[in-house]
Amino acid sequence: MSRQSLLDTPIEYLKGVGPKRAEALKTELQIFNYADLLSFYPFRYEDRTKFYKIKDMQPNMAYVQLVGKITSLNEVGAKRGKRLVATFQDESGSVELVWFKGTKWIKSSLKLNTDYVLFGKPSLYGTKLNISHPELELLSDSNPTMRSAMQAVYSSTEKLNNQGLHSRGIGKLVNTLLEQVKGTLTDTLPSYFLEQHHLVRREEAVFNIHKPQSQDKLKQALYRLKFEELFYIQLGLLKQKNIIKGRFRSFTFEKIADTFNTFYDKNLPFELTDAQKRVLKEIRTDVGTGMHMNRLLQGDVGSGKTIVALMTMLMAIDNGYQTLLMAPTEILANQHYTGITELAEGLGLKIVLLTGSVTAANRKPIHEGLQSGEIDIIIGTHALLEDAVQFKNLGIAIVDEQHRFGVAQRAKLWKKNSLPPHVLVMTATPIPRTLAMALYGDLDISVIDELPPGRKAIKTVHRYDSNRLKVFKFMKDEIAKGRQIYVVYPLIQESEKMDYKDLMDGYESIVREFPIPDYQVSIVHGKMKAADKDYEMNRFVKGETQIMVATTVIEVGVNVPNASVMVIESAERFGLSQLHQLRGRVGRGAEQSFCILLTSHKLSNEAKIRLETMVKTNDGFEIADVDLKLRGPGDMMGTRQSGLLDLKIADLAKDSQILQYVRGVAQKIMEYDPNFQAPENKILLEQYKLQTKGKINWSRIS
Ligand code: ADP
Ligand code: MG
Repeated sequence: MSRQSLLDTPIEYLKGVGPKRAEALKTELQIFNYADLLSFYPFRYEDRTKFYKIKDMQPNMAYVQLVGKITSLNEVGAKRGKRLVATFQDESGSVELVWFKGTKWIKSSLKLNTDYVLFGKPSLYGTKLNISHPELELLSDSNPTMRSAMQAVYSSTEKLNNQGLHSRGIGKLVNTLLEQVKGTLTDTLPSYFLEQHHLVRREEAVFNIHKPQSQDKLKQALYRLKFEELFYIQLGLLKQKNIIKGRFRSFTFEKIADTFNTFYDKNLPFELTDAQKRVLKEIRTDVGTGMHMNRLLQGDVGSGKTIVALMTMLMAIDNGYQTLLMAPTEILANQHYTGITELAEGLGLKIVLLTGSVTAANRKPIHEGLQSGEIDIIIGTHALLEDAVQFKNLGIAIVDEQHRFGVAQRAKLWKKNSLPPHVLVMTATPIPRTLAMALYGDLDISVIDELPPGRKAIKTVHRYDSNRLKVFKFMKDEIAKGRQIYVVYPLIQESEKMDYKDLMDGYESIVREFPIPDYQVSIVHGKMKAADKDYEMNRFVKGETQIMVATTVIEVGVNVPNASVMVIESAERFGLSQLHQLRGRVGRGAEQSFCILLTSHKLSNEAKIRLETMVKTNDGFEIADVDLKLRGPGDMMGTRQSGLLDLKIADLAKDSQILQYVRGVAQKIMEYDPNFQAPENKILLEQYKLQTKGKINWSRIS
């Protein structure tokens, strides 16, 4: 049997599996064949050589192994409270065992007064320790030579448990399989990699991940397998990027000419930051080559992405092309329109706004102006994606606040021309670099990592609800100085009714505390009509109201430089990136700004970390890193759909160094051997083909 066909063997043929267990393995763990089982890696290891005495157990121990006898066994409680309780005894004392599920079967299978090896986690029940759902094996059945100081633990499910496939059962199958494939596991990385990057052979890694011979061997195995997993993902992404670049040509913006230069000399209201200059250079290099630009621009709230967007558009306009800027909300599109019209004054450009509220009659001339080429800059919302919007020669499309747009919607932008326009996607959600690499490895990434000078760092504090009166007093003082204030409430879908009530109660108490005619209070929430929202929003923007009570509707983009205080109610319920986005609404003017995080006294550990992080730093990337560590990559904005995060062994939150390293390795290969033609890279071609054959969908183009 060749290596490939042995690993392809359906799992039911493995000794100890059979049709029933095979079915469970397939549906529960997606293990279809030998290869799948081999790469079903343990998630931790336990020391099974050490035995404890019952009297030495502590509630904080991760697990203990005991030897003793069951001296009593009783079912107690009724219905839902029903459980099986046993007394387990050794010469040092006794401990209670509890089962809540499968009690019938367990009760009938356990023997009284017979020596068992017990494995489980002690926990505190009232003042006494007990162990729930322990693993029990008759001492006479247990094989001491099988015990390891690093026994692999596999995750299992209830259905698998019922088939006897708890962690230990799966471990036994893995052992059987390892015996069978011993000596046949050839390598999946080029042999020169092993020396160059200090990697152990594949077979050695696979054996040691399941049955570590030592801590060192385990470390090497982990490194090798993570390296391989991340490397092939990066290689695939870079290869894809290469294919796109080679296949899709786009417009070349050859010259920097009048519009750009006039703007630079006469209109630019401030000196660009070094970061802005660097990013503009990166963009300029892209659009000057004739290759298609597909670039992600990351920059914290207030870092000045708009001016970069405008200057990029001017490059296109100078070369005779039209440009598009798309925003996720009407308010934001309006703001861009006003801001850009102002900035571009005197340049003789035709700038037009197209949103959902433009009437059909008014759309017609816009559609015509786009087709004739008369319009230079079109700014708008999703309305820009409609089929009726066609261009004479769209040179670049810029998408602001990327996470609100779906991939499919962005793809639509490609179809507005004979050639796909350049695409620049701007986001204020700082994605940690590692995650950005994994997710957008096929995009180029630019980062504005510097705020314009003269900004005063926002002062952030955490206060408990019980101090609300002091907070109100502070708000009054700030209003007396002429400032404006946001008060934000969480509105989270599942509990919407209650949240809505909280919002209205909060609004009423603020109106009571800040009465007319001395104060004016606005309110904006998701249930209001768009027109009413805009009306209230505009009153606040114009300074007619001092306080804006809102839900997260205001999260994206709104610019009110005079607003200098952000009060966030029930701040413990917001995620870190949302808190950071909200805080970014203040600190836009010259005044000292403040963010007050109000919470109840009941805080989870995670909530505490989030609050501490917010108080400690204003740096979006630092916050994103903490967020990634707290939540894991699967929960981060926009990562769910990617599928790239179905990693078997690597962890994007923890393995960023390996990721960066393998990206470098993959980049080098793409430079000197992009089609994997060199004999020593033959294996790369094989693996790449396997990968593209169906498992991974590389069509995820931005
Ligand atoms: P964002 O990246 O959040 O979209 P904006 O483009 O809205 O940020 O810029 C935020 C504010 O900073 C705007 O008022 C803008 O005029 C100002 N700004 C941008 N760049 C600079 C700069 N280099 N120097 C001074 N102010 C700047
Ligand atoms: Mg912006």
